[in-house]
Amino acid sequence: MTNARSAQRGQTAGSEPDQVEMTVYRAGVTVHRAEATAGGRRHPRLAALTRAARPDVMPAMETSWLHPRDELVETMRRIYRYKMTTTSGGNLSILDPDGSIWITPSRVDKGELQPADIVWVQADGTRIGRHAPSSEFPFHREIYRRRPDLGAIVHAHPGALVAFSICRVLPDTRVQLLAHAVCGRVAYAPYACPGSDQLGRNIAETFARGADCVMLENHGVVIGGRDLQDAFQRFETLEFVAQTLVKAATLGEIQPLAADRLVERMPPEPGELPPAAPTNREKELRTQICRFVRRAYQQRLLISTAGSFSARLDAGQFLISPRRRDRLELEPRGVVRATAEACEAGKRPSRTAGLHAAIYRRHPEVGAIINAQPAHASAFCMTKAVLSTHTIPESYIVLNEVPKLPHACVVAEAERIAAEVSLARRPVLLIENEGALVVGKDVLDAFDRLEVLEATAEALILSRPLGPLVPMPLAALDELRRVFGVN
Ligand SMILES: [Zn+2]
Repeated sequence: MTNARSAQRGQTAGSEPDQVEMTVYRAGVTVHRAEATAGGRRHPRLAALTRAARPDVMPAMETSWLHPRDELVETMRRIYRYKMTTTSGGNLSILDPDGSIWITPSRVDKGELQPADIVWVQADGTRIGRHAPSSEFPFHREIYRRRPDLGAIVHAHPGALVAFSICRVLPDTRVQLLAHAVCGRVAYAPYACPGSDQLGRNIAETFARGADCVMLENHGVVIGGRDLQDAFQRFETLEFVAQTLVKAATLGEIQPLAADRLVERMPPEPGELPPAAPTNREKELRTQICRFVRRAYQQRLLISTAGSFSARLDAGQFLISPRRRDRLELEPRGVVRATAEACEAGKRPSRTAGLHAAIYRRHPEVGAIINAQPAHASAFCMTKAVLSTHTIPESYIVLNEVPKLPHACVVAEAERIAAEVSLARRPVLLIENEGALVVGKDVLDAFDRLEVLEATAEALILSRPLGPLVPMPLAALDELRRVFGVN
């Protein structure tokens, strides 16, 4: 594979009444499978296969307490706010348990959408609301008809996925374990005119064959989920991995994970720590973690499904972000108090908790740890390109050198990774097909380092078309070491 362009192309083959030739992108390979169908309904075997492909990679989120109107508006605002749709493009829907569909309206400014703008389409086709439903309503209805396991749909035209769509290339999610697990199967639906029944049939057919994310030729993407949060997170993850792939393609050959490394290892269930009233220091640290996690999300250093922050609480305990909870909505009480083997009752720490515990145990000077996959730094993790910090003084002083480790599982190979990091000498590690590991003396120190890492990676990628890097000379690096105490 030479770059993103060489990612495998997905095609949906024609179907016959009783036999569907299924060509989907699964576990990084194009899978051809003849599936028996009955009268357009999915065969139970295919339904089972779809469930099998969705293991407990997205543990049940807290059920939304928002009314569908409010949930649609909040999600659309978030998509618009983070530039994943234009004012006129994109639509979202939620299937109500009674069979009715809540959907965003046609021709209403996405930046100013209000709950009263949402259209409610009854199962018998009656529309309630002051606007017409999205012109893409036919494909939403058809997808729900063909995939009863889906409860929400996100459709938009985000930049990186559109780039793949206009080249008809599939974004290869095998480059990151988590993205691969979250996004599920990605496949293409053939082009048809927007709003047409034919487009509806093409998309629904691709979903019916087991896809979770459907790329539309020369158009955009449609993503299904168990609920709107699930669909949004899958959408955001796929767009983010697509952005990362585009950046990585400028650096060299993209290296996907081998099939045996694409299995997500989950840590053993932690024991329960006895309840303890939080000290003021603990309260302060919880608030700090939330503030920086939120800021990291807003700065696109994290997305809703990936990345973890922790801070040392005392000799044996630390506070860490929870597993698979929306990073933007993290609150102090949602942060998890943990040790190497146990955590607060009723909570689940990030799957990196074992790695963080190992680092705190080995390195008493480390006060905070971040695992993250920001797009530019991650692009270096997907290729053999070296992330040089000999660019500007800030990069060298804050990051020192940034070595890259071969891929290592943050759960199973925690001790090995913990042995490589060092606050004084190697405070940032890149791990192939995993992301960045950053340590700091406190949360601000680690966050600053993560920001400088991503800014450095971005500058290196931006400089590519301009000419070869002119690194700072060794004498300048010596001087920085002397003046700023770089080890
Ligand atoms: Zn569209």
